[in-house]
Amino acid sequence: MIIDLESIFNVEGLSADLDYEIDMSGEELDGAFPFKTPVRVRGRVANTTGIVEINAEASYELTMPCSRCAQETVHKMSTEIYHTLVRQVENENNDDFLTVTDLRYDLDPLVREDILLSMPYKFLCSDDCKGLCPKCGKNLNEGPCSCKPETDPRLEALRQLLDNNE
Ligand SMILES: [Zn+2]
Ligand SMILES: [Zn+2]
Repeated sequence: MIIDLESIFNVEGLSADLDYEIDMSGEELDGAFPFKTPVRVRGRVANTTGIVEINAEASYELTMPCSRCAQETVHKMSTEIYHTLVRQVENENNDDFLTVTDLRYDLDPLVREDILLSMPYKFLCSDDCKGLCPKCGKNLNEGPCSCKPETDPRLEALRQLLDNNE
């Protein structure tokens, strides 16, 4: 969505409401295309006492395979989109401000970037997902497999240690 920032920069107290959708269905994540439904963006761009800020929330669903058992699961997510906009950089090293060069500003790349940066490291179908048997590949959430359980207590202790570090 293109926002005309010129009037917002020029008029203190002026704001524009945001309520629209972005199609991110072409976005790939770990080999999957998780954005099956549009991303909803709601919030506003406002000039408060001369400072122009974007304050919005992107809400969306991610359809991702579980990192342990590969079962495809839908996750309801939201990402805060919060930036202070400036027309020129007074201090080149300041990352807190987003410098706008074109006052007909396209918000979508910013929203996409914020969402992709907020992606979790892994997706689980549930917090206590048992995963797949490393030997036979059976989904252990559906019940135990017929493989012999690991009997070496040292290996078992190591496994639990690795599990806890995940
Ligand atoms: Zn799972
Ligand atoms: Zn097994």
